[in-house]
Amino acid sequence: MTVRVRIAPSPTGNLHIGTARTAVFNWLFAHHHGGTFVLRVEDTDLERSKPEYTENIKTGLQWLGLHWDEGPFFQTQRLDQYKAAIQTLLDQGLAYRCYCTPAELEAMREQQKANNQAPRYDNRHRNLTEAQRAEFEAQGRKPVIRFKIDDAQQIVWQDLIRGTMTWKGSDLGGDMVIARTPEGNESFGQPLYNLAVVVDDIDMQISHVIRGEDHIANTAKQILLYEALGAAVPQFAHTPLILNQEGRKLSKRDGVTSIDDFRQMGFLPQAIANYMSLLGWTPTDSTQEIFTLEEAAKEFSLERVNKAGAKFDWDKLDWINAQYLHKMPIPALTDLLIPYLQAAGYGDYLGDRPWLESLITLVAPSLTRLADVTQETRLLFGDSITLDEKATAQLQTEGVKAILQEVLQNIQTSTDFTPDEAKALINQVTKAHGVKKGVVMKSMRAGLMGELQGPDLMQSWVLLHQKGWDIERLNQAIASI
Ligand code: GLU
Repeated sequence: MTVRVRIAPSPTGNLHIGTARTAVFNWLFAHHHGGTFVLRVEDTDLERSKPEYTENIKTGLQWLGLHWDEGPFFQTQRLDQYKAAIQTLLDQGLAYRCYCTPAELEAMREQQKANNQAPRYDNRHRNLTEAQRAEFEAQGRKPVIRFKIDDAQQIVWQDLIRGTMTWKGSDLGGDMVIARTPEGNESFGQPLYNLAVVVDDIDMQISHVIRGEDHIANTAKQILLYEALGAAVPQFAHTPLILNQEGRKLSKRDGVTSIDDFRQMGFLPQAIANYMSLLGWTPTDSTQEIFTLEEAAKEFSLERVNKAGAKFDWDKLDWINAQYLHKMPIPALTDLLIPYLQAAGYGDYLGDRPWLESLITLVAPSLTRLADVTQETRLLFGDSITLDEKATAQLQTEGVKAILQEVLQNIQTSTDFTPDEAKALINQVTKAHGVKKGVVMKSMRAGLMGELQGPDLMQSWVLLHQKGWDIERLNQAIASI
C-alpha cells in the first residue's frame, strides 16, 4: 500500500493545537507505513488568509518536528485545476448554474422554517431551460455552480476510526454550491472548499484522509464528488475532537489557542508532540507515556485511536514536559532558559557561563515549564535582597544578629567553598552559639535569600558566594536588625 497523507490547514490563524494534533496523527501514520506526508495550504478564503499565518503554521510544524515530504502546495495557485474539474462536471450534466438571489434563498429558508422543515436548497434551478437561463443572465444575475445530489441515495464509507458511516443524500442540504462567481468576474472563479479539497486530494494522490471529526459531514459530499470526477475514493479516518475538562470542545476560553502560546509558556516541542500523540491514541503498552515521534510512529495505528473526544489535561502535559526538561543536558537547557531570564530582566547576570550552568543545575529539577526558571532563580541574582515579612521576623529573633555576624566573619576571606564546607561552617556556628541547627539554617536563609522558602540553601549559598553576593546580603541583613 502506498500511503500518501496530508495536512491541509487554512491560513486564517496561527497553528492551532487541533490542527497540530491532526498533523501529528498524519505524520505518525505516514512514517509507520514509510509513506509521504504532504503540506497543503488551503488559502482560497482570500479575505481571511494571511501570509503571516502560513509562516506561523510552517514554523510551528517544523518546530514540533513534523517535517513534510512534499509541498507546501497552495490552493490559490491551483485555480486552473479547479476550473477544469468544474467544467467537467458542467459538461457531464452533473453540475449546473443556479441563479437564485440571496433574497430568494432567504425566502426559501423562511418558508421551510415556517413548515418546520430543515433548511435546504430545493434544487429549483436544476432543470432550467436555455430561455430561462438567458433571461437570468440578461437580468445580470451572477450564477453559482451547484453539484447535483440525488436525495434518494445513501453514502456509505468505512471510517478507519469510526467504522461504518452512512449518510442519506437527503440529509446533505440539496444540490451543493461548488463555485461562486466573485463580483466583477465574468466566469465562475471561486471554487468552494469541498470541490477544491477533492480535486487536490485526487491530484496529490492522497490515499488516506485523516482529519478532525468536524469534517464528517463534508465527507459524504466529497465522496460524491470523487465518484462524479471518476476518481478512486481515499480511505477516511476522522479523529476525535480535543475537549476541555468539562467535556466541551477546547477553545480560546481554555487558555489555549496556538502552538506559539505553548512555546511561550515554556513547553518543549518534543513534549507537546509526545502529548499530542496521546490525545486520542493509546499505544499497545498503555503505561508507556514518554516517546519520541519516531518511537510512536513504529507502533502507531488508527485502530488504536479512540472515537470518544480526547480531554486536554494540563497536568499530564506538565508532567511530560518536566520529564523532558529533567533529562535534558544542562548546557542545552541553559541555552533554552536564557531568553526567559533575559526577559525577566536578569540579562546582566548571564555572562558567566560556568556559574550560570551551576545555577541551572540547582533549579532544573524544580522546573515544569521553561518559564518557571524566572520564579525559581529570582532569589539568586544580585547583591541585594528584599526581606519578606517572615524573613524579617526571623532576623529580629534574639541572637540571630550575632550568628550572622559570626558566619560573615568566617566567609570574608574564603574565595570559594563547597556545599560541604558551608555545612561545616553552619555546624561550627551552631555549636558556638549553643542553639538548634534549625535556627541557624533559618536565619541564614532569611539573611541570604530574604525568604524562608527556596532552593537548596547550601548550594544557593555557594553560588552567591562565588559572586560575593552572600557577603553583601548578610551585611544588609545584619544592618536591618
Ligand atoms: N482546511 C481544512 C481545515 O483547516 C482541512 C480540510 C481537510 O483536512 O480536508 O479544517
